[in-house]
Amino acid sequence: MDPKYQRVALNDGHFIPALGFGTFAPDEVPKSEAGVATKIAIDVGFRHIDAAHVYQNEPEIGQAIRSKIADGTVKREDIFYTSKLWCTFLQPELVRKALEQSLKRLQLDYVDLYLIHYPVGLKMMEKCKDAGLAKSIGVSNFNRRQLEMILNKPGLKYKPVCNQVECHPYLNQSKLLDFCKSKDIILVAYAALGSSRDPKWVHKNTPILLEDPVVCALAKKHKRSPAQIVLRYQLQRGVVVLAKSFIEREIKENIQIFGFQLSSEDMKTLDGLDRNLRYYSADLFLGHPNFPFADEY
Ligand code: NAP
Repeated sequence: MDPKYQRVALNDGHFIPALGFGTFAPDEVPKSEAGVATKIAIDVGFRHIDAAHVYQNEPEIGQAIRSKIADGTVKREDIFYTSKLWCTFLQPELVRKALEQSLKRLQLDYVDLYLIHYPVGLKMMEKCKDAGLAKSIGVSNFNRRQLEMILNKPGLKYKPVCNQVECHPYLNQSKLLDFCKSKDIILVAYAALGSSRDPKWVHKNTPILLEDPVVCALAKKHKRSPAQIVLRYQLQRGVVVLAKSFIEREIKENIQIFGFQLSSEDMKTLDGLDRNLRYYSADLFLGHPNFPFADEY
């Protein structure tokens, strides 16, 4: 099998492609660009697409996926599509409705993975999985304590298959990663390239990861780009990694991460960049009792 289609086993028997295509973009970017970029991403070999209700791009992403199925590039089962339940739909009676609305916007029969977007309310979505509307269910932005709370929930039917969290060399999440591995939960990295830098979510005075001198030196050494170095870093740690770009040249570059290897020295060097720097600090949830980023990890 072509290494770019490399997949990782989930704890419920399904598989997730190791590299995913991120589709979140700031409000000013026309939603049509997400659709165009998703088609390019599928054409160059991305098989894992990450979106969410709150990105307001599901009609365009759905259309892009369906058009690539219609023109014979892929079959539905080749695509791994992730959506996320936003915080306004956490009451039990709204969960399935929210997923059905996403599916209607997408015009798809099921999502491969449905995540609770933020842990501000901890309702599991087991019924959506039982109904076949979501093949797998998982969480996002959960800290260790919140994961443990779910795992220890009496009568838990399905444990989350993944925890999608911010993860890059400046916030390498090594402790959370070790905990997830010990529980057979996959860590999915977002902002792996240093985030969209959307001023609505990200403070503008944060450092630019892809300009980090250590990352750039490794890029030079391997004759790769800084983006390829930080994506490859995650693959070698057993992390499923998302990469967002709406630029064709970058989309093509971001999938070329399977043909080289970082040495254990390189990996240690990248580990050394960790500085607990969170681009998406989610200030909007500050003060909420389940605010996830106050704990150490
Ligand atoms: P990201 O993947 O860290 O990086 C995106 C930025 O890197 C964009 O500004 C992009 O610029 C640039 N870039 C991409 N490829 C590049 C390359 N080869 N060379 C140079 N620059 C490159 O961004 P993200 O959107 O923050 O995170 C990725 C995905 O994770 C999102 O799209 C979304 O699907 C998901 N996410 C989830 C959550 C959550 O709460 N669960 C939160 C944030 C994100 P261009 O403008 O050039 O495309």
